[in-house]
Parts: sequence; structure tokens; C-alpha cells
Amino acid sequence: MRLADHTTSRVGGTAEHWVTATSEAAAIEAIRLADENHTPLLVLGGGSNTLMADAGFPGTVVQLAFAGMKKTEAADGVTVRMAAGQDWDGAVAWTVAQGLSGLEALSGIPGSAGATPVQNVGAYGADVSQSLVSVRAWDRRAGSVVELTNAELGFGYRDSVIKQSLAPAEGATTPRWVVLSVDFRLRATGTAAPVRYAQLARALGVQEGDTAPLALVRDEVLSLRAGKGMVLDAEDHDTWSTGSFFTNPIVPETLRSRLPEGAPAFRAGEGLVKLSAAWLIEHAGFGKGYGLGEAERHLAQGRASLSTKHTLAVTNRGEASTEDLLAIARTVRDGVERTWGVRLHPEPVLVGCAL
Ligand SMILES: Cc1cc2nc3c(=O)[nH]c(=O)nc-3n(C[C@H](O)[C@H](O)[C@H](O)COP(=O)(O)OP(=O)(O)OC[C@H]3O[C@@H](n4cnc5c(N)ncnc54)[C@H](O)[C@@H]3O)c2cc1C
Repeated sequence: MRLADHTTSRVGGTAEHWVTATSEAAAIEAIRLADENHTPLLVLGGGSNTLMADAGFPGTVVQLAFAGMKKTEAADGVTVRMAAGQDWDGAVAWTVAQGLSGLEALSGIPGSAGATPVQNVGAYGADVSQSLVSVRAWDRRAGSVVELTNAELGFGYRDSVIKQSLAPAEGATTPRWVVLSVDFRLRATGTAAPVRYAQLARALGVQEGDTAPLALVRDEVLSLRAGKGMVLDAEDHDTWSTGSFFTNPIVPETLRSRLPEGAPAFRAGEGLVKLSAAWLIEHAGFGKGYGLGEAERHLAQGRASLSTKHTLAVTNRGEASTEDLLAIARTVRDGVERTWGVRLHPEPVLVGCAL
């Protein structure tokens, strides 16, 4: 099986062994078998946050392909359980159509519901930790199905204990816990959760902290995302990516003095600030479409570049290899470090390759 056919960057070699798991039981069986045989294992949802090596994967890839949603009334709202393989944006659209508030700002994010807790998926001032109650997961170490509550998942910015159990440097490509289903607690109000993102508030014509009709929030988020190449579109190479290639760096406040006035910086805990990776990239001389210009064409021969709509996405222009994408990413990372003294770290999971 060509991994390039199962990743949104459309790169990656062949999987030695491929399992399409259409039920929880089939997924657990395939994972257990691989672990018992000490076979390298990669659990895959939509492949939208995974960068696969050109050499492929020398082991078993288990694609979680079981979908479904179930709604139950709860004392303080409505619980929606999503199966791990459920398409995330389809699920968000469904909750909005049901008048359920909580996930609307997370519209348009590709991938599966089961992967959302892994990096605490977030956008436009929201993240899944704000409405996730618990997950059911296969614990590969214990060999049993366990429930992990929101508190136990230790959510942070693009982080959770599930993510922390993934140590690519040590060769781990799949976390200790494989999420089987996710429970969200939503509110049946018909209006969106308070808008927590200035650009979205402006687009909606409301103040930050105000609310707006659910469907309108979804539409505005989709339209803002599409303008940045952040909604999948087979015709648009700017979307052949893993979304943001770098996380926003969280650095000691003292580093802020290296940046000019006006550089975005947000408080991120005691003595820490979160900087904008997109700003750092752009102001280190890497503009939109970097990689396509004559001066930098040697990097990937025009096969890969920063998105022409957003400097955070490293994109496949049609014929790119993983190494092409990495060549662009490496140059950008090193240039940002030279200019600002801040090292950027990749957001996607790198499987069999390194930056
Ligand atoms: C155009 C574009 C825009 C994006 N925008 C955003 C955004 O706004 N915000 C954001 O946070 N992310 C964004 N992303 C990244 C990505 O969509 C999310 O991280 C998404 O949740 C990944 O889901 P997936 O099913 O594709 O994961 P995959 O790429 O299949 O897997 C990612 C990692 O999670 C593991 N994994 C997958 N499923 C499970 C499971 N059930 N249990 C345990 N581990 C699992 C895999 O082993 C792998 O290590 C974007 C990506 C693209 C391409």
C-alpha cells in the first residue's frame, strides 16, 4: 500500500503490511498482534498530521476505519461519542446541524476524531480539551481497554499524555494509548460558544467574548481557513500539506526583547510567552511560496514550497518527495534560528524521517 495515497501531503513510500480496521475489535487484534511480534506499528487516521519517509514503513500500518456518532442526553448538556475513525469535520458539521455548541470553531480540520486528543487539536481560540470529557483507549502496555478522563489526558498546547508517549526519537511511531472513541460534552443552545479569536470576531461582526449563530461561525471559520489553504482541496496544492508544519514556540519572556516592537507574543504561563511561528518565518525572509522562486529552487526544484497562502504550511506542488518537503522545512527552521535565536519544532509526527 502506498502511504502517499493515505496522507494529506501525498508523500511517503510503501507500508510493508497494511490493515484496514473496520471495527474496534479488528483494530485491537491487529495492534496486539504487531506488539506481540515486536513488529513496528503505525496507527493511522486521516494521515493529516503524519509525514512518512520516502522509504515507507517497515512494519504494520493499522488504519482506523470505524466511524459513527452517538448522542445521549446528560444532566449538564449532551454527550456525543465519536468512534476513532469518524471523519472529524463531518462530525463537527453534524453537531452544528443538531444545534450543539462547542466544536464549531474547530470546523474544517482534516483527519479523524480519534486523533484530535493526541495533540489537543485547536484553532480560532478553541481546542478539543474545552469540551472533551473522556476517551476510551487501547492501552498497549496494559493490554486492555481503559478510560482516560480529561484531567488524566494532561492537555496542553498541541500536547497531551498520549502525544508525550510518542517518542519518535526512540523509534516509537504510535502512542501507548490508541484512542477507540472520544466523548464530548456539548450544549444544546443553538448558539456558538463565546468567540475567542479576534480575526473570527471581526469576520462575524461581533466583539471577542460574544456569541453568534452556530452555522454562521462554522461558515466563517471555513471561509477564513480556505483563504489560508487550510481546508483540503484536491485541486489546490496549497492544501497538500500537514497544515501548520511548526508549532508556535513557547519561550522565556526574556527572549522577547530580541524581537521588534509589534511582534506577536502572548502570555503562556509564568515567565513564558508564545510567539507566532508564522511571523518569525515571514520576518526571517521566508515569504509565501518560498521554494518556488529562482533563488531557492535548488532546494526542491519547485516540487515543494511554503504555501502561497500561509507561511506555516510546507506544501507538495504535485511531484514532491518527503525529502523535498523536509529540505524546505529545514532551511526555514535554520533561517529562523539564525535570525531570531528561536528554534522551531515540527507539529506533524515524522515517521522514519527527521528534520
Ligand atoms: C490542511 C490542514 C489543516 C490543519 N489544521 C489544523 C488545525 O487548525 N489545528 C490542528 O490542531 N491541527 C490541524 N491540522 C493537523 C491535523 O489535521 C490534526 O492534527 C488531526 O487531528 C490529525 O488527524 P489524523 O486522523 O489525520 O491523524 P494522523 O495523521 O493519521 O495521525 C497523527 C498521529 O496521531 C496518531 N493517531 C492517529 N489516530 C490515533 C488514535 N485513534 N489514537 C492514538 N493515536 C492516534 C498517529 O499514530 C500519528 O502519530 C491540519 C492539517 C491539514 C492537512
